[in-house]
Amino acid sequence: MSGQKKVQVTPRNLKLLVQERIYNPQLRKNLSRATSTTLAKRADVVADFTQWEEMRSAASEIKDGVIANLDTYLEQFEENAVSAGATVHWAADAQAAQSIVYQILRDCDAKLVVKSKSMTTEEIRLGHFLEEQGIEAVETDLGEYIVQLAGELPSHITAPALHKSREEIGELFAKKLGIDRTNDPEALTAIARDVLREKFLQADAGISGVNFAVADSGTICIVENEGNGRLSTALPKTHIAVMGIEKLLPDMQSLTLFLQLLARSSTGQRITSYTSLIRGPKAKDDLDGPEDLHIIILDNGRTDILEDDDLRESLNCIRCGACLNTCPVYQTIGGHSYGTQYSGPIGAVISPSLLGVEEAGKMPYASSLCGACAEICPVQIDLHHLLLHQRRKYIERQGGNPAERLLFRLWMMTMKHAALYSVSGLLGRLAGTIFGGSNRTLPVPGWSKSREFPAPAPKSFKQLWKEHGSER
Ligand code: SF4
Repeated sequence: MSGQKKVQVTPRNLKLLVQERIYNPQLRKNLSRATSTTLAKRADVVADFTQWEEMRSAASEIKDGVIANLDTYLEQFEENAVSAGATVHWAADAQAAQSIVYQILRDCDAKLVVKSKSMTTEEIRLGHFLEEQGIEAVETDLGEYIVQLAGELPSHITAPALHKSREEIGELFAKKLGIDRTNDPEALTAIARDVLREKFLQADAGISGVNFAVADSGTICIVENEGNGRLSTALPKTHIAVMGIEKLLPDMQSLTLFLQLLARSSTGQRITSYTSLIRGPKAKDDLDGPEDLHIIILDNGRTDILEDDDLRESLNCIRCGACLNTCPVYQTIGGHSYGTQYSGPIGAVISPSLLGVEEAGKMPYASSLCGACAEICPVQIDLHHLLLHQRRKYIERQGGNPAERLLFRLWMMTMKHAALYSVSGLLGRLAGTIFGGSNRTLPVPGWSKSREFPAPAPKSFKQLWKEHGSER
């Protein structure tokens, strides 16, 4: 694509973004290697449990209960978090959340903040916003650090730099950090660690997301594998945690179930390397921890999802990324083709609600509706039906394509009348005989580029049934 104008990264440009990437063999290789490795590791550790399906059902039930009583759980969480010493803020949208963060940082005169991996802060474009305000915001998760250096969006919920090979990362580090080029993963990690360690020590504040928020104790839980989350939340004097309203769990007992499901589904681990449970800021006798803990609870379109009886279950998502890994469309086009930070099946379900149908209404079409996503989801979200639901809403709003509407009307008429159905079968077989067969393509633009039209069987099913049906 060199020399060509880059397509603007937005879900409106879904088709163009896909075209830009689908013929990139290196990207296909990176995607295939990363997703197949994670899926294989997942299958290994899921096999630990004969009752995996029961665990999924239990998790789904717990989340259904929380989402159905979200107002009560949110109030309970707030009360307990405040009594543990945290300050709780409510943000209706991205702009409100950005303003709250900015005000907190101004109050503590922060110039440098360290961020641990968080899709919610990606959603509100917090890093960009802070840079615009003159505050340095450094991503400290290795994958996030790589995409920040590259000036890109994360291409996966749990593995932001999954689209890059080690060679590409080596080239990026050499260019951006002025070091000798190396493709050795250990050397690259050590280089990033050296840079980031300094930032941790100098940072005025740390910003994190929240994996789970436990209502009956006001505890937030952050899981990660690099220790950067723990350093970001424990070393600086101020910790700001940003969470969506849907992150709640009722109690610690349910958290133990979700930790098992999340680690296995996301990275194929039995448990993530670091699980931090944070309840309030540093106490008088604590050796470390922040002096101030601020928790920002974000809506940003989630209550619209809550109001939709069908879509509501998408709020059960624990952002494990398994549906992305198993999706044949994601495996082919990669996360950046979706044009927004939430990609894959769950991204295509929630983005039209978070960003608006005008902006992201086409995303649910990036699916074959095979159902692999729903099958793997640890909280049993019926993803492919939700994709259909979002398509329906898009058509209702946009009015649909007139040619497509006409075709479906004809199809409906044909299916309703036996005589029409028989005639259309005959015509179809005739067309198949003329155009079909090996190396024959239908004169349909685009469609026939990669498909051959098969020759029809010598006899129709109806004829065969007449001849042999009675023998069975
Ligand atoms: S929808 Fe399910 S599989 Fe996809 S990220 Fe959410 S929890 Fe994971």
